[in-house]
Amino acid sequence: MDQRSILTGVFEGRRLTEKEAAFLLREGDILALGFTANAIREKIFEDPDTVTFIIDRNINYTNICTSKCRFCAFYRDKSDPEAYLLTKDEVFEKIEETLELEGTQIMMQGGLHPDLKIDYYEDLFRSIKERYPITIHSLGAPEVAYVADISDISIDEALKRLKDAGLDSLPGAGAEILVDHYRKDVSPNKVSAKRWLDVMERAHILGIESTATMMMGGPETVEDRVEHMSKIRQLQDKTGGFRAFISWTYQPGYTELGGKTVSSREYLKTLAVARIFFDNIKHIQGSWVTQGKEIGQLSLAFGADDLGSIMIEENVVRATGVAYAMSKEEMVRLITATGKKAARRNTVYEVIERF
Ligand code: SF4
Repeated sequence: MDQRSILTGVFEGRRLTEKEAAFLLREGDILALGFTANAIREKIFEDPDTVTFIIDRNINYTNICTSKCRFCAFYRDKSDPEAYLLTKDEVFEKIEETLELEGTQIMMQGGLHPDLKIDYYEDLFRSIKERYPITIHSLGAPEVAYVADISDISIDEALKRLKDAGLDSLPGAGAEILVDHYRKDVSPNKVSAKRWLDVMERAHILGIESTATMMMGGPETVEDRVEHMSKIRQLQDKTGGFRAFISWTYQPGYTELGGKTVSSREYLKTLAVARIFFDNIKHIQGSWVTQGKEIGQLSLAFGADDLGSIMIEENVVRATGVAYAMSKEEMVRLITATGKKAARRNTVYEVIERF
């Protein structure tokens, strides 16, 4: 295979094949990949100099989880002294703080709690929407599937009821790598790849859009990474419901799985290949939360158009010992220092403030 002809072809609009993606991930020249990813970004955005971000808050409402994924340092058993479930008032307080800091979205994400059935979420979402003008971009496909199972209802019914109660959209959480031999190894109790995709497909059909994610740098192979991206691209061809693709790197601290952190070079290369691969997903997010601020800035030269959230609160990555904080002003400084223009967006990627 020849990198130059592959990259010229995709820049002219040809779809990257899975074999080519694996070749580029293995043998591609990082600078040529970055150059092409950036050129594609410049071609598809009306205002390619603008880089967006959002102010939101992760509300990890419970750390009690039956899944016990080997890469996770966040979950606790119900009997563990550190186990918690936030009260409604605690959730409300966090939302009020979020609104004070100009936040427009909450991401409620927790463990798979064995006692929280559908009526818990319906009541919580309704109470939030009655009180606050905030977007509920919450739960992941594993949580939706689990809640449906323990409530003895179908995925469709769970999604419809959650939507009626106020759920606006789904984060792409819990995808990790959508390849079953990988999932059996690192998260055997979590939904299969097919079920994750089924939940997303049903959600999109019901008008609940979502993002898609990939956790790279665990025990997956290059082929697994490509298969993961390919499954998401195929579903996007069908539904068009993924607003963004977000990849981040596995953080081994305090996890059962252990291992090493993937290099920033590997991260940036994969990010660039994602931009080239996803000819049907507009937004590709750079990760400063797992990669740090400087690599977050560099991601903007490797195809990313968005830096995600300033993360008023985040506990899942923090549990691995990795903690970066960011204010709105700092995010704006970070973006403008790269020569780009910073803009704050909402959940559906509309710009609501320019700097
Ligand atoms: S990653 Fe999520 S589902 Fe897995 S153990 Fe952690 S909290 Fe539970």
